[in-house]
Amino acid sequence: MFYFCMFVATIKPMKKIIASFFLALTCIMPCRSFAWGKAGHELVAEIAFHYLDDATKQAVMKYLKRMTIEAASTWMDENRSDHFYDYMRTWHYIDITKGEEYHPSAEKNMLTVLNSAIYALQHKDGMKDKDIKQDLLLIFHLVGDLHQPLHTGYPEDKGGNTVEIKSPIYNGNLHSFWDTQIIEAENIKLDDCLALYNNFTAEEIKSINKLNVLQWMKQSRALLDGVYDFTDGKIDQAYIDKNKEVIKKQLLIGGLRLASILRNVFKVAQPQPSMGTAPANDTSAATNHLPAADYAKNGNSASQLMDAGNHASTDGTFSMGLFQIVANNSRQGRRQLTVPADRS
Ligand SMILES: [Zn+2]
Repeated sequence: MFYFCMFVATIKPMKKIIASFFLALTCIMPCRSFAWGKAGHELVAEIAFHYLDDATKQAVMKYLKRMTIEAASTWMDENRSDHFYDYMRTWHYIDITKGEEYHPSAEKNMLTVLNSAIYALQHKDGMKDKDIKQDLLLIFHLVGDLHQPLHTGYPEDKGGNTVEIKSPIYNGNLHSFWDTQIIEAENIKLDDCLALYNNFTAEEIKSINKLNVLQWMKQSRALLDGVYDFTDGKIDQAYIDKNKEVIKKQLLIGGLRLASILRNVFKVAQPQPSMGTAPANDTSAATNHLPAADYAKNGNSASQLMDAGNHASTDGTFSMGLFQIVANNSRQGRRQLTVPADRS
């Protein structure tokens, strides 16, 4: 910082103004709110790979190519500054009014997009590598978001984005507090999450690993009462101590479920016995392939997908397929018009 200031002092006034602007920008940047935060998403991906067999890891990396799993997990947040991807803004969350149940609809939200991406990869024979990669990027990110309770929150406060809180570690909005601030302030690391694994029974692990995105969403929503357990925006250390354990557990469960999806989709398309063999405590790969009817029941567009075929690519060129339908629907969608640009 000293050398940067010396540099500023020695350049011409206009350049000084420009340099000061970028200095100010670097001070502002860390405050930007990312879904689950960069650290949270990366932890989910790392936990998934911790529990994956080598064959499935290799199958995933074949499609990610030079991209790391950490970069894959945050790709949907990193592209937020590119307006080409504006149609994905509503895909990071699902809003359901407090006390109400989820009603399947044609809306493209975290639940329907995640289900569609999983379904696509379960039927990926004939898909281009770049389209498989695109769906993997959605899955890597959205499984993380799904396990942040405020991404399954209430429309009235935009998933906690309009709730101001004060706490010993952060003053700002509740959503960012859960996305990022607790994880960073409490320095939650990979080993902290993995250490909780032994708290689960074999039966609980089996249940966690069973693919059911709707059920996973309901479980996240069940945590919302605890998230809002404070008065007048005042949050104390006891709340943080309690909820950092909830966050560690959610990150672990998210990682386990990401691993479960990856095992499942690569086993479906590559049925060799050595590929994607599920561990003994996970029967999901053999049983959790959801028929199209169940996807339709959950409100996704599996039938559209089956009719449409190919997907969008990561380089932004669209082939005819589900993604084009999804993108068009999102652009025309009611929600798209009401989502603030900074909704995380
Ligand atoms: Zn997100």
